[in-house]
Amino acid sequence: MTAPVAAVTGANRGIGQAIAAAFAGAGYTVAAGARDPASLDDTVTAAGKAGGTVIPVACDVRDEASMAAMAARAGELGPVHAVVANAGVAGPTLPLHELTLADWRGTLVTDLDGVFLTFRAFLPAMIRRRHGSLIAISSMTGKRPLPGRTPYAAAKMGVIGMVRTLAAELGPYRIRVNAVCPGYVAGPRMDEVVRRQAALRGVPEAQMRAEVTGASPLGRMVEADEVARACVFLASDGAAGITGEDLNVTAGVVMY
Ligand code: NDP
Repeated sequence: MTAPVAAVTGANRGIGQAIAAAFAGAGYTVAAGARDPASLDDTVTAAGKAGGTVIPVACDVRDEASMAAMAARAGELGPVHAVVANAGVAGPTLPLHELTLADWRGTLVTDLDGVFLTFRAFLPAMIRRRHGSLIAISSMTGKRPLPGRTPYAAAKMGVIGMVRTLAAELGPYRIRVNAVCPGYVAGPRMDEVVRRQAALRGVPEAQMRAEVTGASPLGRMVEADEVARACVFLASDGAAGITGEDLNVTAGVVMY
């Protein structure tokens, strides 16, 4: 039997790399997308260690033609079972009245339009086959306010609206649609978020970091791999009854 195919955007580092490796480890052939396919070498190595296959694919989630090409390439590997729209940018950390329209649009074009273009590219084949699982990486920042992060929060809450509506739209085709909302994910990007929030509030970074971990009942951040395993679960038959959901992976920082 051929392995099921999963497609993951923004798979060259961070959470996307962990998602690609987790799907590979779960037996999928993974079409891993990044703007520069050469940047996917580490992902291919990580997936190899997990015992699976990752095929590097060029993708820019802001570009219709690029996403159509990614969907076509993934389809050559076999029927695509799961698509994870992970690619995203953090955007600026500034009060809204200091944002330019370019700041605003620069965040939404990747974090919201990018999910739309990713899902739209893969959907016709899934609809034809009456089968599939779409997963969008949202964020707890879509649900819980974080000052200075309005474009990001608007995009991530927008993703949840898209997921719920699509779940209703695609249920008749037996396609499930869910979001995963990571919390504070340990790694370089979170180091940068802590640094910027500390600067915005004028507090020491150590204090900011203590507040971040203290917000969790478990007293910690989450690991990229924990987000990745939630995605593999949502794509699996074990989640056959779950659609339209936004699953928090936040170590309890957000519970709604
Ligand atoms: P990183 O900044 O480490 O990685 C972002 C990824 O998105 C990179 O692979 C990047 O590739 C890719 N990307 C950005 N723009 C595009 C584009 N136009 N087309 C294709 N790929 C693109 O982020 P994380 O791994 O931390 O985040 C991954 C997702 O998780 C994002 O959606 C983020 O918002 C979300 N998230 C992260 C949290 C965290 O704590 N880290 C918390 C909550 C949500 P490139 O090298 O080309 O830039």
